[in-house]
Amino acid sequence: MTTLGFEAALELLRELRVVAVDEMEEVALGASRGRVLAASVAADRDQPPFDRATRDGFAVRAEDFNVGELAVVGSVRAGQRWTGAALGMGEAIEIMTGAPLPEGADAVAMVEHVVRKGEQVRAAVGRSLVAGENVVEQGAEARAGQVLLPVGNVMGAAEIALAAACGRARVKVWRRPTVAIVATGDELVELGTASALEPQQIWNSNSYAIAAMVEAAGGEAVRLPITPDVREAVAASLERARECDLVVLSGGVSMGEYDLVEEMLLAAGAEFFFTGVRMQPGKPMVCGRLGEKLFFGLPGNPISTQVTFHCFVEPLLRRMCGEAGAAPRWGLARLAKEAEGKPGLTRLLPGRLDGVEAWVVGWQGSGDLAANARANCYVELPEGRATLAAGEYVRVLLR
Ligand code: AMP
Ligand code: MG
Repeated sequence: MTTLGFEAALELLRELRVVAVDEMEEVALGASRGRVLAASVAADRDQPPFDRATRDGFAVRAEDFNVGELAVVGSVRAGQRWTGAALGMGEAIEIMTGAPLPEGADAVAMVEHVVRKGEQVRAAVGRSLVAGENVVEQGAEARAGQVLLPVGNVMGAAEIALAAACGRARVKVWRRPTVAIVATGDELVELGTASALEPQQIWNSNSYAIAAMVEAAGGEAVRLPITPDVREAVAASLERARECDLVVLSGGVSMGEYDLVEEMLLAAGAEFFFTGVRMQPGKPMVCGRLGEKLFFGLPGNPISTQVTFHCFVEPLLRRMCGEAGAAPRWGLARLAKEAEGKPGLTRLLPGRLDGVEAWVVGWQGSGDLAANARANCYVELPEGRATLAAGEYVRVLLR
């Protein structure tokens, strides 16, 4: 039996050597959201590829613009290129945002900052320009060949936009690690297999919660059938589960007579890193290695399952996905209301984060899925703090 403090458990997992999947596959850029790059994306050419006007107005020589009237000799818009003679002294070319700056010009006067009379423009009263104004120089954002998205980057909207801007219709990503999900409990019933439950039965919700969290972290969820609290059944499920890259069990890790997960893991030859964490919810969780595979036995109480997943499984899974240094998603917030800690335990209570303020929501304990859904984060009340006053800063675990 090894029970660790919350920070020590986080630390242990942070230091754990994790083997990332090393098989790559190619996917359409549009299907790459949440995937981790296995090959970098480089600029296909200078960005921007030409000196780009960032305003609608007039391409001019700044010095020239500041002293007198200019003759408008033409116009160029986004998608076009000025093919006339280079801009001469005393000349201006009408230009639109996104168009290449004509040769000879060195700035763009905003249309709002000029007075135009027929084919003549001049600076409005009090307006002047310096060279380079309202222009992004060719290559200022990136040089051709420069790596813009390194291996290990997670593809989100910003990364997808950048890859698209580099002309990449497809990207190389790591295969998603498979995660076996085993819900244990005699009381559990699988959705869709019964029209009504006996009062003592409950629907299996943890498998769905875990699958959703696995997918959000970049893994591929493999939901195994509900496993009753029977030794042979748990052993058989472990055999199937260890074929996946990571094993996540729920339930059966407390001290009850029918809590068989730890016992059956041991029987299967597991090595335990810890068998409890001084936290609430989540205390009885176990973690270790079964042969080559890492496993987590999460407590069955649904909020405990989710909190421990976000703290421990999610960062590790993200690292397995190829995201180096992935850590729990912490934020910092000011407590809007006083909150109660618990002696000897780090509490992570369902909370609401609104702007920079957070508060703990009322709940009936770690089975209260309704309160959990009214929350949008977990407020951390560190071990050793009996009361946290309104106005204090706390960490919040984002989900
Ligand atoms: P256990 O960790 O097995 O002692 O379970 C703790 C509590 O969580 C009990 O009230 C269980 O009924 C409940 N529970 C366990 N597994 C699940 C599950 N897969 N879905 C919903 N609730 C569960
Ligand atoms: Mg149980």
